[in-house]
Amino acid sequence: MQTFDSIIIGTGQAGPTLAGRLTAAGQRVAIVERGRFGGTCVNTGCIPTKTMVASAYAARLAARAVEFGVIIDGSVRVDMKRVKARKDAVSAASRKGLEGLLDGMKGCTVFHGHARFESPKMVRVGDELISAPQILLNVGARALESVSGLDRVPYLTNSSMMEVDFLPPHLLIVGGSYIGLEFGQMFRRFGSRVTIVEKGPRLVQREDEDVSLAIQQILENEGIDVQLNSRCISISGREGEIKVHLDCEGGGREAQGTHLLVAAGRRPNTDDLGLDRADVAVDEHGYVQVDDQLRTNVPGIWALGDCNGQGAFTHTSFNDGEIVAANLLDGEARRVSDRILAYALYIDPPLGRVGLTEAEVRKSGRNALMGTRQMTRVGRAVEKGETQGFMKILVDAESKQILGASILGPGGDEAIHSILDLMYAKAPYTVMQRAVHIHPTLSELIPTMLGELKPLS
Ligand SMILES: Cc1cc2nc3c(=O)[nH]c(=O)nc-3n(C[C@H](O)[C@H](O)[C@H](O)COP(=O)(O)OP(=O)(O)OC[C@H]3O[C@@H](n4cnc5c(N)ncnc54)[C@H](O)[C@@H]3O)c2cc1C
Repeated sequence: MQTFDSIIIGTGQAGPTLAGRLTAAGQRVAIVERGRFGGTCVNTGCIPTKTMVASAYAARLAARAVEFGVIIDGSVRVDMKRVKARKDAVSAASRKGLEGLLDGMKGCTVFHGHARFESPKMVRVGDELISAPQILLNVGARALESVSGLDRVPYLTNSSMMEVDFLPPHLLIVGGSYIGLEFGQMFRRFGSRVTIVEKGPRLVQREDEDVSLAIQQILENEGIDVQLNSRCISISGREGEIKVHLDCEGGGREAQGTHLLVAAGRRPNTDDLGLDRADVAVDEHGYVQVDDQLRTNVPGIWALGDCNGQGAFTHTSFNDGEIVAANLLDGEARRVSDRILAYALYIDPPLGRVGLTEAEVRKSGRNALMGTRQMTRVGRAVEKGETQGFMKILVDAESKQILGASILGPGGDEAIHSILDLMYAKAPYTVMQRAVHIHPTLSELIPTMLGELKPLS
């Protein structure tokens, strides 16, 4: 048996940087990976999907070229093999960079294989046993595949979508949230017919109703069929002829297509980790239970990233690694609760989000002000011919602190950061009204919007 100072399970978004910090501090570290280096983000999540979103954007712009005075003689076609090859190259570059980093990291030993606990301090990887006083879980999550009838039809998940190098004639998507919407819009732009089936009354339900409706409008404007209130979804059919039943009663609504993508949630990779042998507590969905510093109930074991249910993003997983490293090595007491919620939805135009929604602010009952602005009143959006969407910001009327914001518009994923940084600085919104933003940008209208705040009615 080999012994180490720390074992990291998973090379997702927290593990590799953490390995760097621990080895730099003189520790002997083992890092175990059963799949491809980089985990979800690099191989089947953010990086490949955003690369494909870029291809889809190019297709969309080419189709709209004449609106900009650009004439393309002949038809615009999408070559899915090239789209996939481009995506594969971008993803591989990122993966190889990480692989090189870990292989060359002094003090770090890489194990390839599935890790499983034998005891709180000992892990099995294939035939090898390794032990350490500190074990850090960064095992991530995978697609939840729990729709009735899935065992009888072929279907795709975000992982198998990565192998698609052809145009599905009609893509059915179960799940109207971030993953489903990104794939839906991109494949519509590539040329597929697309139907999105959502069990709830609106898309992306954690967002405010006006944001959900604007997103639905954007997708429907491109010809995507959105089926809401599909409370009881089941699947039937066969290869190339798939039916999604939207009500479980016979003869109810149904959608038919050629291919099926299941994007109806995620589940943590904790069911096959032998957590019971280490007595690590999980919740009813399998997420490892952690405290505000990401410690599990077992001393010496931490859980970081998607597997702890404290965030479902690359930046939150990365930040988990920073928190644990700072607390273990720098004598700090950093906490997850110091983090401000921020994320983006990469449809086009993208949605940038930070902090509380309007609904959450209303529910809190606090005295708040809100400003809004349609993209039709943002010069930069008009110039780009991308006037769908709007932005809104909520502030506390007494403290003048920003509570939350949504920017659905061109560059919304970038522009939201000026608001996020002000929130981290705990500065009143009036600071931004003195800032001179660059013209012409979407960001220049944020101070203007702050000058038009109204009480929440
Ligand atoms: C389609 C899609 C698009 C996304 N887009 C975005 C985006 O734009 N922005 C964003 O912030 N987030 C996005 N996400 C979410 C983001 O990918 C995840 O939040 C992030 O990758 C989580 O990282 P992690 O470190 O928790 O784990 P992961 O990146 O999932 O890595 C976990 C690693 O652990 C390994 N592993 C698991 N179990 C074991 C075991 N027992 N033994 C050994 N190894 C094991 C796995 O093979 C994997 O490599 C997207 C996700 C999906 C699915």
